[in-house]
Amino acid sequence: MLARLIEIAKRAGAALAAVQAEDLGARYKSRGQLVTRADEVSHALIEAQLAQAFPDVPRVMEEQANEARLPAGAYLVVDELDGTIPFSRGMREWAVMIARIDGRPTHGVIYLPAWETLIAAEAGRGCTLNGEKIRLSSSRSLADAVLGMELNLYLGAEHRERFVSRLSAVALSTRCLACAGAAVAELLLGRTDLYLNCRGGKIWDFAAGALAVEEAGGVAWRIDGTPIAWNSLEMDVLLAANPHIAEQALTIAAG
Ligand SMILES: [Mg+2]
Repeated sequence: MLARLIEIAKRAGAALAAVQAEDLGARYKSRGQLVTRADEVSHALIEAQLAQAFPDVPRVMEEQANEARLPAGAYLVVDELDGTIPFSRGMREWAVMIARIDGRPTHGVIYLPAWETLIAAEAGRGCTLNGEKIRLSSSRSLADAVLGMELNLYLGAEHRERFVSRLSAVALSTRCLACAGAAVAELLLGRTDLYLNCRGGKIWDFAAGALAVEEAGGVAWRIDGTPIAWNSLEMDVLLAANPHIAEQALTIAAG
């Protein structure tokens, strides 16, 4: 399963890289949700290949109409192009993400073509980055950490006050990539120690990344500190290199 998902993500990534410089016909699906011809190219490729490789496994994909209720049993979640906004502006922070969920994520792949980075994880079997096993070992606290966070138009006043304002006032520095896959890569590479995505994300934004971080020895929680239930399309997430910095962030955000 993991090998097939990697192969499909790599093909989609190559197809996306080939069209990034073209006129992508960018338009808004809804406020703040940009979609381009590239998302559609990747969608068609991944959908066809997943249907062939795993014909009996339901697919929940960003670029299709999905049922409000997630499938029962095992299913695949796909972000055909994570980071459409940076992609469409010629930036390098964009990814293809595919995960299998069965109650919780069991397999996950994040491919960042412009970074030449491939992250793969399987429950109970660890996480690799370009084939090298990743083991998070940071013991940094927030004052020494670079914090990854998404700043977007979906954040409410409470998110801005509790998380953006309070945490960025303590962290060494705060950065925002507008690409969950790239943010997970930075955490796994030890560049950041904490990543918060408070609102606007969906299950396909976080399934592969949460599994990768947990398999690397980090933590994946909701932003209120509770475990992720994996029963909802819309999600928030707190990923951290160690439980200490996650707890510290939650304490500061609680005020
Ligand atoms: Mg997308």
